[in-house]
Amino acid sequence: MQTTVLVVGGGIGGLASALALQRRGLDCRVFEQSPRIGELGVGINTLPHAIGELAELGLLARLDAVGLRTYELIYMNRFGQEIWRELRGTHAGHAVPQFSIHRGMLQGVLRDAVTERLGPAAISTGRRLAGFDQDEDGVTARFVDASGATVETVRADVLVGADGIHSTVRASLTPGEGSPRWNGTMLWRGATDWPAFLTGRSMIIAGGMEAKVVLYPIAEGAAGQATLDARALADALADADALADADDVTGALSRYEQARLGPTSEIVHSNRGGGPEGVIDAVEALAPDGFDDVEMVLSHGEREAIVRGYAQKAGFAVSDPGQTTTRRKGMDASTGPDVIGAEASIDNIKWNILGQIYRPKQLSERSFAWHATFPPGTFVPPHFHPTQDEYVYVLDGELTLVAGDDDHLAHAGDLVRLPMGRPHGLFNRSGATTVCLFWVTPTGRLYELFVAIDALEEQTPDAVVALAGKHEVEFLPPPSA
Ligand SMILES: Cc1cc2nc3c(=O)[nH]c(=O)nc-3n(C[C@H](O)[C@H](O)[C@H](O)COP(=O)(O)OP(=O)(O)OC[C@H]3O[C@@H](n4cnc5c(N)ncnc54)[C@H](O)[C@@H]3O)c2cc1C
Repeated sequence: MQTTVLVVGGGIGGLASALALQRRGLDCRVFEQSPRIGELGVGINTLPHAIGELAELGLLARLDAVGLRTYELIYMNRFGQEIWRELRGTHAGHAVPQFSIHRGMLQGVLRDAVTERLGPAAISTGRRLAGFDQDEDGVTARFVDASGATVETVRADVLVGADGIHSTVRASLTPGEGSPRWNGTMLWRGATDWPAFLTGRSMIIAGGMEAKVVLYPIAEGAAGQATLDARALADALADADALADADDVTGALSRYEQARLGPTSEIVHSNRGGGPEGVIDAVEALAPDGFDDVEMVLSHGEREAIVRGYAQKAGFAVSDPGQTTTRRKGMDASTGPDVIGAEASIDNIKWNILGQIYRPKQLSERSFAWHATFPPGTFVPPHFHPTQDEYVYVLDGELTLVAGDDDHLAHAGDLVRLPMGRPHGLFNRSGATTVCLFWVTPTGRLYELFVAIDALEEQTPDAVVALAGKHEVEFLPPPSA
């Protein structure tokens, strides 16, 4: 008995699934809520791993007719200064290209191929999935029209939910999950006729996680996980079908889930942290006002480690101090534009805070840098910055960073990144004075804290801790005896 599949949603994922299923000899129908599969959207960038699947479906020539093979990708800071440049797709040695393409054109290529290969009846438009019932033998789906009237009830072995971010299928399967939560980031998309820039096939991503612009041409002239899901699903179902074992459909769906859940979750988590574009934020944090030579901010090797996703293995840029240290070359206490010299401080300010000497070196709306001298025995108890990243560059001596149960010893020349929310204490356990340069970003609120502490009539640890909470520094409660 042949496995029959209902695909809900005629977007990129749904149409690619239909083609992949047909290629493996499986019977399938696509149900789309819109009255027609129009060519909606603006630009979409499709990476070689997804294009490889579409090439296997025989669609490369059609994609070439409507899209552009991306030549290069350039990361820039918000001033347009170049941080990273690399070739893409076949130019970078992949077997297939990366395409910059109008999302609607890509959808049109897939729609036309489905209609040709599966027949005009394979796509039913004006059919919105209203609900479905699953039993031991399969699934029954109910489709309604725009007025809400039931127009079709369909029985099949498998129902694939490819119905986008506001998925009815997902909501039915995980009713307690609720709607997707907006994280506060707004995206505007647009397209315009414009003369070619750079190579005519260049893609630019400028600015960090706070605000960025993504620019690329999508035609000559003036996200790919859905595709991989489609292939993996068709393969799992076809293997079950080849065994002529309809009971194994459930097992096939489990194998599909096992194959795809890990990789897609990893991508989602990586992208929440910025993914390869995190290199822009890393450079921005170290040089918020721009740079003359990006090599002096982060070396090529350090930038590459972030872009290629092996920053953690390379020993810097992610979570705990033991893994966030990188040895700097060519830096001094005045590194970065607008950071003043080692011996000087802003307006000759010198604060003595609980025996530690602090000299402000640079202050802007976005960041604050200061010079700190820690006599032997200095201990700044564990605290965290809920909204700021902190960087500590050890100029002289040694500093122990206490994070949870882990201690990390930083030496002169080490730069340690303490991501926002990361608890850390600072301890000079050596017998000599330690000198460090600190940065916090974004905002210069810590400067205001130091001014307020300096103005205290009596500087006690309790008074300092009480003030700190008002300036986005949270001290952890002392461990119970
Ligand atoms: C109109 C539109 C424009 C887009 N434009 C862009 C763009 O310009 N750039 C970009 O990078 N990404 C764009 N996207 C998102 C991108 O296409 C997807 O994130 C990605 O391709 C994954 O595809 P998908 O098939 O999972 O979901 P989608 O492409 O979102 O497709 C989901 C499909 O399911 C249909 N559907 C939803 N609920 C039901 C239901 N209950 N019953 C039947 N059908 C249903 C929707 O009408 C839609 O056609 C757009 C998506 C849409 C829907």
